[in-house]
Amino acid sequence: MKDKLLHLLCADDMVQVCAISAKELVSEAKRIHSLSMVATAALGRQLMMTSMMGSRLKNESDRVSTILKGNDGYAGSMVCTAFPDAAVKGCTGDAETELPPTPEGKLDVAGYVGHTGKLTVVRDAGHGDPYVGVCNLISGEIALDFAEYYAASEQQPSLVYLGVRVDVETGTVRSAGGMLIQPMPGCPDEVIADLTERSGRVSELSRKLDEGMTLDDAVSEILSGLSPRVTDTYEPVYRCDCSRERIESALLSVGRDEIEDMIQKDGGAEVSCHFCNKTYRFSEAELRALLRAAEDRGSDG
Ligand SMILES: [Zn+2]
Repeated sequence: MKDKLLHLLCADDMVQVCAISAKELVSEAKRIHSLSMVATAALGRQLMMTSMMGSRLKNESDRVSTILKGNDGYAGSMVCTAFPDAAVKGCTGDAETELPPTPEGKLDVAGYVGHTGKLTVVRDAGHGDPYVGVCNLISGEIALDFAEYYAASEQQPSLVYLGVRVDVETGTVRSAGGMLIQPMPGCPDEVIADLTERSGRVSELSRKLDEGMTLDDAVSEILSGLSPRVTDTYEPVYRCDCSRERIESALLSVGRDEIEDMIQKDGGAEVSCHFCNKTYRFSEAELRALLRAAEDRGSDG
């Protein structure tokens, strides 16, 4: 079954909902980065959330990035970037660490991410200064942290669910699902109370998907009685937008001395993209040409 992302309205259009099923996308991230089970669950959750945020971007050049940086975990920085068509890429500072399950028998995502730290959201329109929002991590389980981000940085109360089910025998991704539920301004209190009561049902999404239910059917069941209607459909995928030009500018940004060093010591450079592991090779001549081009640009002002 292909991955899917839905935008919906329900409760007389007083509530907007985003829902995603992303087994293939999360499996692809696991394959690219050789992620441990707990890293698969953690990065998978963040990828789904960022994809949902990406699907709400308006213009083709818009990007949204999310950065999770825990103080006391293993992951270091986890970075995801999404595009307006809901495609997304991501990487983590530690793909290998495996942790024992929590007392409830779940993958210890908070232990991996860290219980304290920062969540940063960067919205970039491709020109001018990006909009940056930051909040403190409140759990490290990621869904609650994003709910906190929406409440604190965007004054938007939100119910966020993100779940990745991993087969503990084989490490394969069994299902991955997420939901973002947000009341519009003026939403009646009884609707908000109803949504809060449904949070238990919402958290069954990844189990329903694991049992073979389609995203449409699972979401209809979770939102039953609220007359949900789909307003948009996307096909989220894992996609990297790296290119030789981007890698060249990244190389230049590390500085002239570093590049000279690469020429002296290694006679060239091999640079891998953090998001897709594609390797770009630069010969000594290519590095020298890069330095010259940068110098020319520099002297032109
Ligand atoms: Zn790449």
